[in-house]
Formats: sequence, C-alpha cells, structure tokens
Amino acid sequence: MVSQRMLQLGTARSVIRELFEYGRQRAAEVGAENVFDFSLGNPSVPAPAEVNDTAIRLLREQADTIHCYTSAPGDPAARQRIADSLNRRFGEQYTADELYLTVGAAASLCCVLGGLTCPGDEYILFAPYFPEYRVFIEGVKGKVKVIPPEPEHFQIDFSAFEQAVTCRTKGVIINSPNNPSGVVYSRQTLETLAAILRAKEALYGHPIYLISDEPYREIAFHGVEVPWVPQIYKDTIVCYSFSKSLSLPGERLGYVLVPKQVTDADSVYAAAAGAGRSQGYVNAPSLFQRVAAECCDLTADISVYERNCALLTDALREMGYHVVQPGGAFYLFPRSLEPDDMAFSERAKQFDLLLVPGSGFGAPGHFRIAYCVQTEMIERALPRFKALADSYQ
Ligand code: PLP
Repeated sequence: MVSQRMLQLGTARSVIRELFEYGRQRAAEVGAENVFDFSLGNPSVPAPAEVNDTAIRLLREQADTIHCYTSAPGDPAARQRIADSLNRRFGEQYTADELYLTVGAAASLCCVLGGLTCPGDEYILFAPYFPEYRVFIEGVKGKVKVIPPEPEHFQIDFSAFEQAVTCRTKGVIINSPNNPSGVVYSRQTLETLAAILRAKEALYGHPIYLISDEPYREIAFHGVEVPWVPQIYKDTIVCYSFSKSLSLPGERLGYVLVPKQVTDADSVYAAAAGAGRSQGYVNAPSLFQRVAAECCDLTADISVYERNCALLTDALREMGYHVVQPGGAFYLFPRSLEPDDMAFSERAKQFDLLLVPGSGFGAPGHFRIAYCVQTEMIERALPRFKALADSYQ
C-alpha cells in the first residue's frame, strides 16, 4: 500500500508535461525547427556572466568550506547581503533574521503554508493562478477557495473576494507579475485588497496573511510599477526565487521574508523553518546561497522578454485574438478562439503550436503562451497563429 494522495500526485496527467513530450515526439518526425513549443516557463536568456564568474571564484577561493552544510535558515552573511539589497531598493531595514533561504519559490510557499496551516484553515487564490498552489495548500491539509478571473484586466473581482473571506481564512496568495497572465497588480488594486483584508482582520480578530509569491518581481516592463507589497499591507509574507530573475531555475534558490511588522512574526518565521525541517530541506544549496547573495542586485537581460511580448501581443491582436496587456513575466494569456480551451489547444497542435489550456490555471476559455523562447522562433510561428485563427473563420 502507498499513500493514495501521493500516488495520485505522482501519476496525475500533467497537461504541460504531455505537451512537452508530444513536442519531442513531433520534433523527431518533422524536425525541431518546425515545432513551436510555448509550453514551458524555462527562462531563455542566460544567467548574467557575473553569476558563473562568482560561482567559479567561490569554488576556487572557498574550496574547503563551500560545500559544507550552512545554518538551516541559510548562511547569515548571505542573508544579510540579500536583506541589504532589499533595504537599498525599497527603503526598508530588514536584517538577516527575517530571511529564510529556500530551495526556490516552490519550497518557500511550502514552508510558509506548512508553518501557518492549522486544521480547517482556508486560503484564497485569484484565477488565473499557478496550478501548484493547490498541491501545496492541499498538501498541508488546507482548503482552497478560488476567486474567478476578472477577464478584462486580470486584476481582482473585489466583490467576489469580500464574500469569500471568512473567519476560516488564514491567507491569500497573490502573484504579480503573474503566471500565466503576465499582469502586474496596480498599486490601486493592492491598496483595495489591503483595505479589505484589514477590515476582515478587525472583524474576525485574527491575522489574515497575504502571501506574495514573487518569482517574476524583477521581470517588469518599461514604466510598469511593481509595488513592494509589505509597504501596503502589514501582514505580508514574501516568497521569492532567483529562478527567473537570474535565470537559475535548476540551481534552486529562493527565500521567505517574514518582516518583523507581521503579526506574530517570530512564530511565523519559526514555524516556516519548522515546516522546512519537517519536509527535509536541511538548508538551501550552499554554493548558490553565496552566488545569489553576491549577484542579487543583478537581473538577466529581460529586454528579450519585453521585445517578445510586444511582437506577439501586436501580431495576435491584429489577427483577432483578445489579449490582456501584460506588464511583466514572460507569459501571455489570450482568450481561446472557442470556449473549450482543451479543444483549442488540441487544434493548435495541428499547426505544431504547443499552447497550454487555461483550465489548469482556473481560467477556462484562455490559453497560455510562454514566450521565453528565441525571438526568431516567434517570428516563424506567427503565420501558424494566423492559420489557426483562420481555421475558425
Ligand atoms: N510561483 C510561480 C508563480 C511560478 O511561476 C513558479 C515557477 O514557474 C514558482 C512559483 C516556482 O518557482 P521555483 O523555481 O523558484 O520553485
């Protein structure tokens, strides 16, 4: 006998993975250059040169110690460097002991959720949302409540949100810039969200934590403001990752920030650390703790994403697709050309376009394009998008 829940998670059909496998098979048949795989959110620009240079230098200079265990929350000097960077950028006064280094944003979320969740607790998600949130919340026996999308701008349907918050609401997860829509929450959206949460905290007499999942924080396009959420809502816990900003998804490094201003901050931090311990994380990868700390003021060359975004958005709109303007990340989330987004994604395959249906993100009737690919591939794919649109005429 094995755990039925884990068996189900380990064997469940993943639409993205199936698309990816299909793409590999198809590439063997028609050639890789004729398959247009927009399914995966793997950064396409290399890490800044300083990242590799720093890793090589540290391997040479600290050969005897660099591979050792660090303290469980991460090397104190590395944490302080990351805190200093946040302080410079956001005018804060964080210290090393408010940061807990993790194995990427996925682990940050699991640690925070594991640390917070008590029997009966609920979490609110806004569609479209990153599908793994459900797995992480249900993994710690929390309950998920989804607010349907606000499809004109992918901001927040506040009346649905206000009704969804109850005395059982432990937290709310936001992700801006967003996967899959690319939309950045405006300051106004965040202020309204904060005002509602403050009123609900007062009504129910307990904190409601805003978990801000920010792996795309630095991938924001020209002129788009990504507000620093802890300055808008006191009970914000930040889950961050260097996977996208430094193009390091395989190195697995991120952090949880529990600012001192958070209600019961010391307990929340300690409980997140306890969850990390119970999940067997021990410590985040030691070499990349130091590399990320030295390079945390840098960003991979995001101009490529901005160019790809403009190219695709303009061209798709001209072909008749409805696209909400993204402000960052590297995803577009247009409406599918038929209500059944699964059927639409199937039809796109006939044109060798691999597009992820929106249902998995809680937003049926849409599809996701991950445009973290070579610009040249997008240029060659445009006639396929046109042919796909024409097939619906
Ligand atoms: N959150 C969102 C919204 C993501 O898109 C991803 C990865 O794609 C993650 C979390 C997990 O990131 P990481 O690689 O840092 O675990």
